[in-house]
Amino acid sequence: MAYVVTDACTKCMSCPPVCPVSCIHPAEGEEGLDAVSHVNINPDECIDCGACAGICPVEAIFPESDLPDEQRKFAAENAAYFKS
Ligand code: SF4
Ligand code: SF4
Repeated sequence: MAYVVTDACTKCMSCPPVCPVSCIHPAEGEEGLDAVSHVNINPDECIDCGACAGICPVEAIFPESDLPDEQRKFAAENAAYFKS
């Protein structure tokens, strides 16, 4: 499983620095931030620590298993970001 960022994200950039495995991108200073509507979590690297969800000011991050039905698509969308 992994945590997933949804479109509630405001790109405040608080979460990338707290991730112990640096799997949230684009992070500050990386290319592509303007092109995305939210940051993304790499599901192959996330270790489910929950640190990102705990710090998000807008509650945009969920464990994949807790995603509301209407936001399930963001699991695939987060994963797809890392395939491109
Ligand atoms: S749950 Fe932990 S490992 Fe996964 S993206 Fe969030 S901070 Fe990183
Ligand atoms: S902390 Fe929340 S709003 Fe800020 S970049 Fe991360 S997911 Fe987006």
